[in-house]
Amino acid sequence: MVKSVLIVGGGPGGSAAAYWLARNGVDVHLVEKKRYPREKACGDGLTPRAIKQLLDMGFDFDGLDLHRIDGLRAYAGDLKIEMPWPEHSMYPNWGATMRRADLDGVVAGMAEQQGAFVEQGTTATPVTTNDAITAVRLNNDQGERTVHPDLVVIADGSNSRFGRGVGATRRKDYPFGLALRAYYESPNSDDRFIESQLDIRDAQGRAMPGYGWVFPLGDGEINVGAGLVSTFKGWKDVNTSRILEAYISSLPEHWKVVDATPHTKPIGGKLPMSLSVGPKVGRNWVLIGDASGAVNPFNGEGIDYAYETGRMAARWVAEAASGDERALAGYARELEDVYGDYHRVARVFVKVIGNPAVIRTLTTVGLRSKPLMEWTLKVMANLLDPDDAKMTEHIYKAIERVVNVGR
Ligand SMILES: Cc1cc2nc3c(=O)[nH]c(=O)nc-3n(C[C@H](O)[C@H](O)[C@H](O)COP(=O)(O)OP(=O)(O)OC[C@H]3O[C@@H](n4cnc5c(N)ncnc54)[C@H](O)[C@@H]3O)c2cc1C
Repeated sequence: MVKSVLIVGGGPGGSAAAYWLARNGVDVHLVEKKRYPREKACGDGLTPRAIKQLLDMGFDFDGLDLHRIDGLRAYAGDLKIEMPWPEHSMYPNWGATMRRADLDGVVAGMAEQQGAFVEQGTTATPVTTNDAITAVRLNNDQGERTVHPDLVVIADGSNSRFGRGVGATRRKDYPFGLALRAYYESPNSDDRFIESQLDIRDAQGRAMPGYGWVFPLGDGEINVGAGLVSTFKGWKDVNTSRILEAYISSLPEHWKVVDATPHTKPIGGKLPMSLSVGPKVGRNWVLIGDASGAVNPFNGEGIDYAYETGRMAARWVAEAASGDERALAGYARELEDVYGDYHRVARVFVKVIGNPAVIRTLTTVGLRSKPLMEWTLKVMANLLDPDDAKMTEHIYKAIERVVNVGR
């Protein structure tokens, strides 16, 4: 008998999983607790990896209000370097920005067109026995009802209450991030480069591991934000609002942000990184996207990995839906095969940059060398070609050795 699948959460992860499952003929029900268009704290930046996933799902790049991005302009203080997105055999050499308030509803609509049943304004709560979900309670303005899906894809984002309800926990020794963003008016909002400031400071002037960003939206506004990773002493006491304010007051001239009052109140969120949440698979459920901690520690991006893990999970869930639930274990193995090595290196890297002296040296030395920065961009955005990856394996190992010796 073909099994039914419930997806909890209609962000990038849940909608991608719904799209691919429905396209494979699986009976899918997605529940999203809010209604589109819904706000999401995000930089609204789409990397080439995210673009590839949207292309594969048939996203309408011409008809929609999406702003194309050609590359990255990085600053460390006043030092500046501009780099186009790299050429890659699998990924396009361009990125984009699009407000999450618009993007997520469009992708959920694409899943609907494939045959998924998308129910908005509905909150799911699990009922469990051991490691299996036996039922799910659905609450909306019509009241409460209980459904009995055979399989559940958990895509409820970084807070992941549903995930915690089935026993998933985050590894506290893995990196974790916090970020905040606000929208501002700028006459330069059609700039085709996203921008990052690698030298951000706290109130005492200490260099922080993280970066400030300006992501132009092409519609008269820019998304300005700041994010930090948890690998330095005292990170819990840092006030991210102050860091964002300080960054905004020192934005480069070309943005012409004269009125430093944002259009909307700044909002922030958590960034669970490095696949830190687990187990990834239970008897009849899987975790994807932020609920699995899929954010890239190098750059804090997670939309791409939510799409990718949603698609990957969909393959294994489809197999389980037509036969044996034990097929789900294949998803955990594939996650490790595809991302394991990359995240091991990323964890070492973010630990190293927890030391303010190291950040200063890396950013100031790095920004003086274009080839080094281009390579760094490829590593940080996970855009190494398989051949580059082989070449850089030795460099990764060398970094790891240096860090281990320094401990
Ligand atoms: C300030 C900030 C800036 C960021 N900038 C970027 C960026 O520029 N580019 C990038 O790639 N990544 C960025 N990220 C990370 C990115 O936002 C996330 O990685 C991405 O949204 C993860 O997608 P997801 O589908 O896993 O979760 P989400 O997008 O969080 O979606 C989860 C969904 O589940 C719903 N939900 C939750 N609980 C329930 C429930 N019980 N029942 C039903 N529905 C439920 C929620 O309403 C939500 O819609 C940023 C994050 C922050 C905080």
